[in-house]
This record gives sequence, C-alpha cells and structure tokens, in this order.
Amino acid sequence: MHEYAVTQSMLNIALEEAKRAGASKILEIRLVIGDLSTIIDDSVQMYFDIMSEGTLAQGARLAFNRVKAEFKCRECGEVFVKPPKGFDCPKCGGLGMPTDRGKEFYIESLEID
Ligand SMILES: [Zn+2]
Repeated sequence: MHEYAVTQSMLNIALEEAKRAGASKILEIRLVIGDLSTIIDDSVQMYFDIMSEGTLAQGARLAFNRVKAEFKCRECGEVFVKPPKGFDCPKCGGLGMPTDRGKEFYIESLEID
C-alpha cells in the first residue's frame, strides 16, 4: 500500500502546479522513478485513476521514466550502475554501497491544457 501514499502526494503536487499555471486539464504527468524504489508502475496508475476522478488530472496519462540505480565502491570509490546480479564493483570487485541515485520518485514535468 506504499503506492497509495506516494500517488496521493504526487497527485496533490501535480494539481497544485496545474492550478498555479492556470490549466484547465492535465494531459500527462511524467514521473521519474528510481530502480531501487519499490514503487510499481501499475499500482500507481491504478490508484491515480481512482484518486484523480473529478479533478483536473482525470484521464491524464502517466509516463514513467526509470532511473538506473548507481552504487559506489567501498574500496576504490568507483561509481557504477548496479549489475543485474549483486553489487560488486566492476573495477576491483569490492562491495558497492547504494547512492541516492536510484531512489528517486518525483514529477519531471506536466503536460497541461
Ligand atoms: Zn572498486
């Protein structure tokens, strides 16, 4: 039910922005989601469809832009995109630690009318 809360706050932000811009309708919301976040696109869309009913955002499309997670090697400092398996540094084989890259969830842009 994690998606419920994030979808609600995302919708609130989008509506605020649209209101400020004097929009009559939100056509599309482009979201950035980090690969490490546990948010599931389909759930966000499902909650969004329910919550946006009767608002400026009703019927808006959601576009998801997934950001690859980046790790930093504890041994040599190398920053690398997380390999499909494990977290090992491609340079020295050391243990990679998560960075902030990959935990994103925010609105990149809105398309309004
Ligand atoms: Zn390394």
